[in-house]
Amino acid sequence: MIKTKRKEGYRFVWPKIGKEEEAAVVKQLHQSISIYGGGGIFEKFEKEFSKYHNRKFSLVCNSGTSAIHSMFVAADLKTGDEVICPAYTFFATVTPLLFTGAKPILCDCDENGNIDPLEIEKKITKRTKAVVVTHMWGIPAMMSDICAICKKYKLLLLEDCSHAHGARYKGKLVGSFGDISAWSLQGAKLITGGEGGVLTTNNRSFYEKALLLGHYNKRCFNDIRKKSDFYRYAQTGMGLKYRAHPLAIALAYEIFKKFNKYSKFRNQYAKNIIKVLSKVSAVELPSAYNNSDIQPSWYALLFFIKDKCAISKNEFLNKASRSGLFDIDSPNSTKPLNMLPLFNNPGKFFPIYSFGFSEFSYRIGDFPKAENFYRRVIKMPLGIDKDDKKVVDYYKEKIVKILS
Ligand SMILES: *Cc1c(COP(=O)(O)O)cnc(C)c1O
Repeated sequence: MIKTKRKEGYRFVWPKIGKEEEAAVVKQLHQSISIYGGGGIFEKFEKEFSKYHNRKFSLVCNSGTSAIHSMFVAADLKTGDEVICPAYTFFATVTPLLFTGAKPILCDCDENGNIDPLEIEKKITKRTKAVVVTHMWGIPAMMSDICAICKKYKLLLLEDCSHAHGARYKGKLVGSFGDISAWSLQGAKLITGGEGGVLTTNNRSFYEKALLLGHYNKRCFNDIRKKSDFYRYAQTGMGLKYRAHPLAIALAYEIFKKFNKYSKFRNQYAKNIIKVLSKVSAVELPSAYNNSDIQPSWYALLFFIKDKCAISKNEFLNKASRSGLFDIDSPNSTKPLNMLPLFNNPGKFFPIYSFGFSEFSYRIGDFPKAENFYRRVIKMPLGIDKDDKKVVDYYKEKIVKILS
């Protein structure tokens, strides 16, 4: 493939692979490239990750999707259950649920793109078992209200924190509200091993069931209590394999070590850009950016172009691209799930969803707030060190110039 050199503009580099990242991976390469029983780099990462989130158990997996699947299985979700899920999220928040037989009840979003507590309450029935939250683009969902609803109706709270490593709501880290939480460690995410995932919980029984889904034999024998009903299944587990790659976890551990440092820069850059953008009359910012309860992770910085402006979103994106702002975009694959064929016609691959109480089929138009958010939102990444200042400044100046 021919690589074209872009003369104009800048790109944000992520992750930054330096000497320390290289050394961590090479060290692991000589130690072990497959960890059967837990321990080693898995244990190191899991211990730190649990400590950071104040959780008892962490389990590294080979993807965020497999961690989310493990979360649903651990929560014992199955045919006949209803699970309230965000309509606006990356699809892998919900698609693993289809393998459990439980029915996803999609729910519209609030003005920050997150599942709306008022909408959640409207969707609760006697079959409802759990509520799933994604902290979209790093903005924590309204956790006080959502936790209160889950408590009132005795529902499990499950968090997909794949956009929101280190984000806080009222000072508390996302991922430490729910009964079980999952993160992706994929290459674009804020803590990354290239590919990978991790799950946390305080509940030993949930942890053991997550182990059984994808971590058979040694790790199950080591980590499942002998007196547990699950122990006798340790050799096979449930038969899937979701074990992480040690090289990926070695890289993720190195990046996790730098996470606080990176977050400080992201916060600074975000503050700086927001200050400038808030003075541009064509720009609208998510209300969360003005809410002291909410500390985003800055997986992306979001903004909108006000309706009835001289410039449309597409015109802006074209101009941005021509000005070299290659990393500004309008998220495409992260769209309301009711706009996806799989959620229009799930029976095609999952027959259980084509009849009886499990039947569902979503249509375009079902979630107007999510669809409107998706159509309008523009996102850009942020820098993580002082070298990124020139890129951030370039983006900032060009955005203002295009929109003023
Ligand atoms: C990335 C992501 C996932 C899936 O994670 P993978 O590691 O790619 O499997 C799930 N949910 C959200 C919100 C994500 O951003």
